Amino acid sequence: MNILEPIPFHKPSIGEEEIQEVVDCLRSGWLTSGPRTAQFESEFRAYVGAAQSLAVNSCTAGLHLALAALEIGPGDEVITTPLTFCATANTILHVGATPVLADIGADGNLDPASIEAHITSRTKAIVPVHIAGLSCDMDQIWSLARRHNLKVIEDAAHAVGTHWRGLPIGAPQPGGASDAVAYSFYATKNLTTGEGGMVTTQDKELIDRMKVLCLHGISRDAWNRYSKGGNWYYQVLEPGFKYNLTDLQSAIGIHQLRKQEAFIATRTAWAKMYTEAFMGSAELEPAPESANSRHCWHLYSLRLNLSRLTIDRAQFIQELEKAGITASVHFIPLPLHPAYSELAARPENACPNALALYPRLVSLPLHPAMTEEEVSYVATTVKEIAWRARRSESIVVL
Ligand SMILES: *Cc1c(COP(=O)(O)O)cnc(C)c1O
Repeated sequence: MNILEPIPFHKPSIGEEEIQEVVDCLRSGWLTSGPRTAQFESEFRAYVGAAQSLAVNSCTAGLHLALAALEIGPGDEVITTPLTFCATANTILHVGATPVLADIGADGNLDPASIEAHITSRTKAIVPVHIAGLSCDMDQIWSLARRHNLKVIEDAAHAVGTHWRGLPIGAPQPGGASDAVAYSFYATKNLTTGEGGMVTTQDKELIDRMKVLCLHGISRDAWNRYSKGGNWYYQVLEPGFKYNLTDLQSAIGIHQLRKQEAFIATRTAWAKMYTEAFMGSAELEPAPESANSRHCWHLYSLRLNLSRLTIDRAQFIQELEKAGITASVHFIPLPLHPAYSELAARPENACPNALALYPRLVSLPLHPAMTEEEVSYVATTVKEIAWRARRSESIVVL
């Protein structure tokens, strides 16, 4: 099978609606946070079922604001996952707290039993990550948080439109609710504004505190200051950050949000094609799913059965590259980065499951701009590479 065009790992789906809204925004004269950002915040919180929302310029900013506003700081421990992007740990370090790495379960998400085993008298919060767009077991995490009086801040960078037990990530549930949830609108994420993010909560006081910290610690934002009833006066209540989302970005986000359900439907169809293609191969293990979660399929994380293959993951990705397919890996576990060597040296951060899973992970191209032919080509190529590199049965050590 041959294709004419290489298949990139990701291609954003930006339509005329987004382009026209950005042009209208430019012509309106209001470029930074203003009416379009207010609209995006309100439509986003309606989509995820949250009471409060604040648009920010990244998920990293959202996580940092939530940790800071919840007054997590020096001396505090925050339990998170080793299988995540560095932003999750960096924001914990930025507030002066210590990340503690619990291990993952078979689905790649934090294992609640491992979280519990990592709780100490210094633990203040849990930061779960919904890896690839598959929900963590939130009921168990909320139950642990209640019993040990911990905050929960969800890193929902992958999880716009993910559901847990029939409700979106961000909505309060019968099983509980998180203190804050941070989403990413980075260029490769399901909903993109180029760079951007949103933080949601059910707590009015917390959102007000995050709003102040989001704009230098100033008591009112520019839109309130200059619109009707506003004036020139403001006060800096505390040294805050500069994390607001612009109206230019919100213009894109408003239309991306309206397309999310259609995007997820396409991603789900493509993921199903991958899973059906890989199910019969002893060399391949399809991406995990759960009956309790509607997966938003931000990523399709294929797992290689390395004992059945004569090549390693790097060679597998090289073979895909030769066939015109760009793959990736999500993620290099945190303890393997030099920045966290001090954390990695602590026995409690050992995370054997994450380290064992890592060499098996290959993220395949998966986005709504792909055609069915492209998905089929990727699936066939993956199977062909696995077949060519299969280890013969007789030398498989069981
Ligand atoms: C992308 C990502 C982030 C950071 O998102 P930004 O919007 O780029 O700050 C955080 N956590 C995870 C798991 C991510 O994949």
